[in-house]
Amino acid sequence: MAQKSVAKMEQRLTSEASLGRQKDDGSRWNQGEAGGSTGRGKVNGPEAKTRAIGTSSLDGAGNWRTQGRSAHLSVVTGVVDGLEGASRAGLKNWLNYEKEVGEGGEWCYQSQLSCHDTCRGPSEWKNNFPNCGGQRQSPINIVTGKVKHDPKLTNFIFEGHEKLFNMSVENHGHSAYFSLPQSVRIRGGGLSGTYKAVQFHLHWGENGGQGSEHSVDGEQFPMELHIVHIKEKYDSLKEALNDSTGVAAFAFFFEVTSGQNKHLERVIDALGKVRYEGNSSEIEDFRLTDIIPQASKLSYYRYLGSLTTPDCDQAVVWTVFKQTLPISKKQLMSVDKQLLFGTGKPMTGIFRPVQNLNGRVVYTSVPAQGLCVLPNLITLFLCLFCVFGQQRCLN
Ligand SMILES: [Zn+2]
Repeated sequence: MAQKSVAKMEQRLTSEASLGRQKDDGSRWNQGEAGGSTGRGKVNGPEAKTRAIGTSSLDGAGNWRTQGRSAHLSVVTGVVDGLEGASRAGLKNWLNYEKEVGEGGEWCYQSQLSCHDTCRGPSEWKNNFPNCGGQRQSPINIVTGKVKHDPKLTNFIFEGHEKLFNMSVENHGHSAYFSLPQSVRIRGGGLSGTYKAVQFHLHWGENGGQGSEHSVDGEQFPMELHIVHIKEKYDSLKEALNDSTGVAAFAFFFEVTSGQNKHLERVIDALGKVRYEGNSSEIEDFRLTDIIPQASKLSYYRYLGSLTTPDCDQAVVWTVFKQTLPISKKQLMSVDKQLLFGTGKPMTGIFRPVQNLNGRVVYTSVPAQGLCVLPNLITLFLCLFCVFGQQRCLN
């Protein structure tokens, strides 16, 4: 009888070990928190909260990390649009892809370089990841005096941006990704078709300093939000990266304002819950319109570029919005205190330097110059009116 019990216990321990339920340093879970079909609560990290799956309407999924991560996403999308399969695959592929390239090349940001750290900084990325030395790399500096107006760059149509969803956030060692349900879609805006959302993340500096990736007329902003979408026909980022316009990325700059951005507070709080690489947490009842403006209010720059992290695939249609998002100084100061790199150092200065244009043209959705330069009769009339009437031109 006793022997049987021991055997049973051994069997259980073995199966738990094989599921990877091990803590590596007492502070975070390694590998999968596998719960199988029975469902299990949320994972990992000392501060991560636990949610008992199956007790709410969002039941039916259990796992979190590895398998679990994708199963969780099915909770999110299953409720929203019933298309969990593809979305699951999409995020999983994105995450796995990031993992592969991140670990394979030991790449790092400039801020991580030191006498003691032999990781490969941005100028060396191209040695391990040839794409990073390509001709259409991102980010870039946008020179507003050189952008060209393209009338095909019409307003975007946002779909699902006002609907509430649950999303996971996970520290991936170089940033933290917030998963998005594929019910969030974009079209219009001069894109060739519909793209579905995969995730969003932020780039920031150090101590409230500048930390955006793109810049405008040489000016860097304190923080930049990236929302990553893939063409709706693709099931994964990997697939989309084989298409020179397979990925549509949105970039929003943040500007420091006196008041705090209430909605952003939840995003910043979530970052505090995923301090260590591999930690994950969850935000419930979130919608994108909480943090970005409506489509009709947005004007933007457009150019063809790449992912801004290795392996820098040149498959991205970039949209850099002119409208900035607000953030208080206090909020900004707290962002870069929240996370640690995989190396255990504070995650600061997570942006790639701007890359050469190499002859690329940046387009704008609205004319950048004054009305006088537009060659049509109405404009001519307006200009004459201005010049003779007010001694100055409409701008
Ligand atoms: Zn990014």
